[in-house]
Amino acid sequence: MADERRRYLAQQMELGGAEVILQAGRGAGGQGGGRAGGQTGRRAEDLEAETGPDAGRGGSGELSACPSARPPVCPPARPEPNWRKGAPPIPGPGLRIEPPTPTLLGGDGLNDLTTLDAIAERIRTTHCCGLCPGRTNAVPGEGNPAAQLMFIGEGPGATEDALGRPFVGQAGKLLDEIIQAIGLAREDVYITNIMKCRPPQNRKPLPDEIAACMPYLHRQIALIRPKVIVALGSTAAEALLNARKGLGELRGKVHSYGGIPLVVTYHPAALLRNPNWKKPTWDDVRIARQLLDR
Ligand code: URA
Repeated sequence: MADERRRYLAQQMELGGAEVILQAGRGAGGQGGGRAGGQTGRRAEDLEAETGPDAGRGGSGELSACPSARPPVCPPARPEPNWRKGAPPIPGPGLRIEPPTPTLLGGDGLNDLTTLDAIAERIRTTHCCGLCPGRTNAVPGEGNPAAQLMFIGEGPGATEDALGRPFVGQAGKLLDEIIQAIGLAREDVYITNIMKCRPPQNRKPLPDEIAACMPYLHRQIALIRPKVIVALGSTAAEALLNARKGLGELRGKVHSYGGIPLVVTYHPAALLRNPNWKKPTWDDVRIARQLLDR
């Protein structure tokens, strides 16, 4: 049947019938051929494309004389994503911080951990500071091990402690919305915290607790090697940048964590308390999104 169609098509094209309309669902040769108007008709070129790689290219010798009647096809223009409309330009550079270099002797003892699962297992099975004995679950982090974008918060709250997963409470729902608003899914990114165990009553972690827990985060970043990091809130920003500067000073610049662009924004829990910070946060994450596309 395909040969019959091809022969019929060749005849039609030789007779100048490149525009001949064939009735859908019926053979081109014999009964079904000829003009059949209406919406069920298909253009001859479409059918030609379906009849195999030789069609119209002279593979059988029969069609070699037919010039292609098909105009060049341009890919459809991609519409601008919503997040890009009115997005601020990428700001200038801020602080440059080099993460601790792993030493041959192991330093923090994490160099032998070569997967995120191995790090998570170590976190779940050991204690590194005074917060660990009080946890229900450790919360190592979760997401795409090859993520290009990494979100880093402060530490688990009650829901995270109960479930062993980061950002799954109210603030987490808002973070999910932020991620979706920049055209990504939670599964695309990696989400973790400075602290892997919940501080009592969600108090701010103490400097020695942060210092004890940071090696896990440095190792996670080293394995994931994201293209962009977003620090959520001042605790995450100050710990990652080793700076005591506050959010006001740290926002609005592209910092460098070992060469990885790092953007600072408000913590989603702060947005729940003060919705006026949603707009600046939206600007910050759109800067991060642009850095991803660079
Ligand atoms: N706040 C954080 O900083 N991290 C979480 O995982 C949840 C709330």
